[in-house]
Amino acid sequence: MKWDKRMGVKEALRLALKYDLFSLGALAEEIRMRLNDPHIVTYAVDRNINYTNICISQCRYCAFSREREAPDAYVLDQETLLEKLRATKKRGGTHILLQGGLNPHLPFSYHLNMVRTIRESGLGVHGYSPPEILFFSQLYKRPIEYILEALKDAGLGSVPGGGAEILSDRVRKALSPKKASTKEYLTVMEKAHRIGLKSTVTMMFGHMESWVERIVHLKLIRDLQDRTGGFTAFICWPYQPWPNGLPQKVNYPAEYLRVLAISRIFLDNISHIQASWVTQGKDVAQIALFYGADDMGSTMMEENVVSSAGTTHMLDEWAIREIITRAGFLPKKRDVFYRILN
Ligand code: SF4
Repeated sequence: MKWDKRMGVKEALRLALKYDLFSLGALAEEIRMRLNDPHIVTYAVDRNINYTNICISQCRYCAFSREREAPDAYVLDQETLLEKLRATKKRGGTHILLQGGLNPHLPFSYHLNMVRTIRESGLGVHGYSPPEILFFSQLYKRPIEYILEALKDAGLGSVPGGGAEILSDRVRKALSPKKASTKEYLTVMEKAHRIGLKSTVTMMFGHMESWVERIVHLKLIRDLQDRTGGFTAFICWPYQPWPNGLPQKVNYPAEYLRVLAISRIFLDNISHIQASWVTQGKDVAQIALFYGADDMGSTMMEENVVSSAGTTHMLDEWAIREIITRAGFLPKKRDVFYRILN
């Protein structure tokens, strides 16, 4: 199968529902090889820091958030932050992926100080997903642009795509009614891009969405990318179920690979697609390199959100390099902007 024109929603839906997985994978791989160096798979060395698990949003798919009174509720303090930064630098980390719950008890200065501290350590800050930015705007009664500019002035370098889940208000109202709507998520992203902040963008699927909603999600992302060019990479993963949580609709690798391949084919204006070893494990992540992924994500060093649901895959830099090499590619370390590092 060959495809050399931009794919429409109806065509993508037909492909997703009717085509066999191998044909989809072959097409996705052909596009990936055309868009990126066919010999190289990139990865980053970074650390995930989730600065608080206190959150008012109560999304139904979340096993991470806590109420303020919970015995394991926390807010990261300065001393622990400095310790984590030292350990990240020691391991050759380039940046921090900084995200947290929607905690109304923290002043804006807490966030600005945290970003400054990370920057002063020499690490980059890939931080604050659109729902957090929107929440700050509402909590501190300042426009979204003000929040973004203030964080950028403090040292924020780029924005992670967390919180997109499925960009359908039907799904969002049912699963996360207190979190940013579809329009709000895209508005924050557009404003971030307009002031020069690059971002990643994500999709968490396999809960209550339909294939139509998945494709519309991709279309909204592609349209925004046409306007701003601010997305560096796309990352998708299936929702990870947890006891008493939302039931999972799909949990088999074939569905993950199908979504990944369709995403690569449809998102013709986004350069990079990550494999999700955190949710899929290293074997499926390796196969993902033949279904459209050209990047193995990052070391993370600590992972608190997916692991709260019981999924615990951990890889260090050498393990990531090994799985890339064994798949037949050259592993190359990159920074948050996907620039290859020596
Ligand atoms: S997914 Fe994020 S916003 Fe939703 S409850 Fe969990 S921490 Fe809060």
